[in-house]
Amino acid sequence: MAVKDMQTIVSLAKRRGFIFQSSEIYGGINSCWDYGPYGVALKKNVKDAWWQDNVLRRQDMTGLDSSILMSPQIWQASGHLSNFSDPMVDCKKCKLRYREDTLESKTCPACGGEFTESRQFNLMFKTFMGPVEDDANIIYLRPETAQGIFVNFKNVQQTSRKKLPFGIAQIGKSFRNEITPGNFTFRTREFEQMEIEFFVNPEQADEFYEYWKNERFDWYKRFGIKPENLQLREHDNDELAHYARGCADVEYKFPFGFSELEGIANRTDFDLNKHMESSGRDLTYLDPQTNKKFIPYVIEPSAGADRATLAFLIDAYNEEPDGDENRVVLKFHPRLAPVKVAIFPLMKKPPLKEFAQKLNSDLIKRFVCEYDEVGSIGKRYRRQDEIGTPYCITVDFDSLEDNAVTIRNRDTMQQERINTSSLIEYLDKNLNI
Ligand code: ATP
Repeated sequence: MAVKDMQTIVSLAKRRGFIFQSSEIYGGINSCWDYGPYGVALKKNVKDAWWQDNVLRRQDMTGLDSSILMSPQIWQASGHLSNFSDPMVDCKKCKLRYREDTLESKTCPACGGEFTESRQFNLMFKTFMGPVEDDANIIYLRPETAQGIFVNFKNVQQTSRKKLPFGIAQIGKSFRNEITPGNFTFRTREFEQMEIEFFVNPEQADEFYEYWKNERFDWYKRFGIKPENLQLREHDNDELAHYARGCADVEYKFPFGFSELEGIANRTDFDLNKHMESSGRDLTYLDPQTNKKFIPYVIEPSAGADRATLAFLIDAYNEEPDGDENRVVLKFHPRLAPVKVAIFPLMKKPPLKEFAQKLNSDLIKRFVCEYDEVGSIGKRYRRQDEIGTPYCITVDFDSLEDNAVTIRNRDTMQQERINTSSLIEYLDKNLNI
């Protein structure tokens, strides 16, 4: 059985140390979340999987880590200062605040009250750079990582000597003062993005737009999201941002309905053009074959690390019969699982304990391991199932004689005996897929 509702995931995430409410001991702070020990491992594995597939394993990609605070002129040029806003309305009666474009009715869904006139609310967080809090020192927390890539286009292209088509990838925090955050980590005010700006010859833009839509859609399936829970939705013309020539969303079937995981857009030459105009610097590309200069077009697959992590967590969740009871098991793809192998001595006494601890210290050099000697083996299996550990290894009295251990598969619950000398090879083959 899959996840029934968001509350099931929120409770599991808290109980097992994936995600906690931020500032909890002070009553919590709205829409901010902290990743606990297994959550930080899961999210890091999601980001590593993305980086590996999109940067390290490709010749046409390179990475960047630009700063969060940037010149305010960047946001002026990109249009964020004037346009990065959502329409906001308040209910005159109960005072609840809404993002107007997400409302289905013209009256307050909570109390039926009338709304105020809609106002545009800019989503960028403002602060001051340096000790003086005046207008000249206003600075913004970036609402997307993309602009850091555009303004470094020339630096990266020249130092990496990449030729078109090539992409620059970046993972980092972004901030948006969302009017209505919610649905756990789906919409927060501080979140992490995984963005690619792929620079192409304008003539090839349509071809690469198609390519990246498919590539990114397939990536989620490759890491275990069930195909029936994913859809690719092309935007209607009236949904497109003013600079975009095409945009499609990869959507996941969250418990609250299909919603965006990632957007893939053809941003044309809009951003490079604007930064060229505004900075006075030449951001054109000289094609070495034709000797012609032009401004590249950009295809942008823009994903959220927190939304992806949440989708992987929800999709992995299963409740299924285990003997007379039910077990909760997270069937993560092995590369995403926070812990790869758990090691149990049948009893917490020597010599089983020493054997298991030695095995743990050998394996931990290669795989993320967890040693557990507390409770019955059945309880220990349950604990690992709930955090999605693909393999559990039990050391018993026979192990002392034959140097073999029992390895249990999380998904099939099948157990097999395996000699410790073959363990690394076995785990390598099954985990690093
Ligand atoms: P939405 O329509 O949901 O507000 P968006 O279209 O504004 O999202 P983009 O600007 O395309 O989002 O951002 C790219 C990605 O960054 C999104 O697909 C999402 O995964 C992530 N993202 C954007 N805003 C948030 C947020 N407030 N909280 C968590 N992730 C976010």
